[in-house]
Amino acid sequence: QTNEMMIEFDSRSCNESFARVAVAAFMTQLNPTLEEVADVKTALSEAVTNAIVHGYENEIKKVTVSCSISGQVLTLTVSDKGVGIADIARAMEPLFTTKPDTERCGMGFAFMEAFMDDVQVKSAVGQGTAVTMKK
Ligand code: ATP
Ligand code: MG
Repeated sequence: QTNEMMIEFDSRSCNESFARVAVAAFMTQLNPTLEEVADVKTALSEAVTNAIVHGYENEIKKVTVSCSISGQVLTLTVSDKGVGIADIARAMEPLFTTKPDTERCGMGFAFMEAFMDDVQVKSAVGQGTAVTMKK
């Protein structure tokens, strides 16, 4: 018996905390530890920030977070319909960033991989990106 939810919101950084709280509330049915909740929130924040700053380059469009619980496993997908990623393997390397002159340090995917059990990225240039993570 799977349980699913989906939220869609404008790509404004003020909505990141909304997405974190919504997912944290949804995952309470798993009776997670505080550490598990913190890990999921951190990974989610990184993926949502990427959708906003890279996917949409700070234009205001829709970001979707879909979430499902099956058994004891939480699956999260953060999607944007933005610019997409040309070389996913390279983008996921620690310290790789296409915005080195800003406050970005290229650690977002590394954090997602560290805090979640599985991270999969699907992306097409000009079509968008979907990051699916499991915990
Ligand atoms: P940090 O997360 O440390 O602030 P960063 O965002 O550059 O820096 P990552 O989150 O690891 O680092 O992402 C690496 C690179 O992958 C980005 O610089 C960007 O080029 C690309 N990228 C990540 N997510 C997306 C996305 N949703 N759409 C387009 N490009 C993306
Ligand atoms: Mg990032």
